[in-house]
Amino acid sequence: MRKLLFTLILVSIASAGLAQLKDLRPGFNLFSSQQDIQLGQEAAAQVAQQETVVPNAQLTGYLNNILMRLSSTPHGQSEFPYKANAIASKDINAFALPGGPIFVYTALIGEASNEAELAGVLAHEMTHVKLRHGTNQATQENLIELPLALAAKAAGNSMLGQLEKLGISLGVNSLLLKMSRSHESEADYNGAQTMAEAGYNPVAMAQFFQKLEAKGGRETGLTQFLSDHPNPGNRVKAVQNEVRLMPRRAYTTDSGQFPAIKQLVATIPVPPPKTPVPQK
Ligand SMILES: [Zn+2]
Repeated sequence: MRKLLFTLILVSIASAGLAQLKDLRPGFNLFSSQQDIQLGQEAAAQVAQQETVVPNAQLTGYLNNILMRLSSTPHGQSEFPYKANAIASKDINAFALPGGPIFVYTALIGEASNEAELAGVLAHEMTHVKLRHGTNQATQENLIELPLALAAKAAGNSMLGQLEKLGISLGVNSLLLKMSRSHESEADYNGAQTMAEAGYNPVAMAQFFQKLEAKGGRETGLTQFLSDHPNPGNRVKAVQNEVRLMPRRAYTTDSGQFPAIKQLVATIPVPPPKTPVPQK
């Protein structure tokens, strides 16, 4: 018995020593990478019709500079062309579409305490794109019907139109936007690697999510974000465990522009909510 215990201890010490960072890869997918890009472009055009995309070059440039810094790292880079835009809204939200388009709501920028927190959301969203989580979910739920729908798209129809016939849209509980907890774990994991490689403290990402979750009960403007990015468990602890396996680095929290961007965002007018408030 004692010998067995001793062996068990040895094995666990050995496996702890072997623990190392993983390189996550996309799961099974019936869409081609090019189809992810086409779908994302169509969906982004729909978003631009429904939401108020902010036409401010300073803000868009700032967001895309962070994206560029993140996507030039080993874990941030992918085959997809990332592009960020801000949406003027009181809702605290951010989402990524397949193939690269990322939208960040002005109220979410207003909630971030520093650039690292905002970069954390971007690194998390970029990972949903890179690991193709949206079309992976659409694949899992529509294994039988998808090949025909994608073939119909090849015949020249709109991809979003074909997918809407299968119930896949950008609406509530969208398969393209509402992530599973395992996809969330992956987005946190690869997002943290991306953050660290870009020189941002990776824990800032998980801390920002935790801050938003703590606010969630009171702030209705967070419902969509928290529902699309469900907490996979203890986010901060998971990232802290991951960081222990990383080489030591010096991190920055800010490129120096964040305070000016926060001020700018506070001056951007938000449109009234689209859904009518029920009358008493
Ligand atoms: Zn997510």
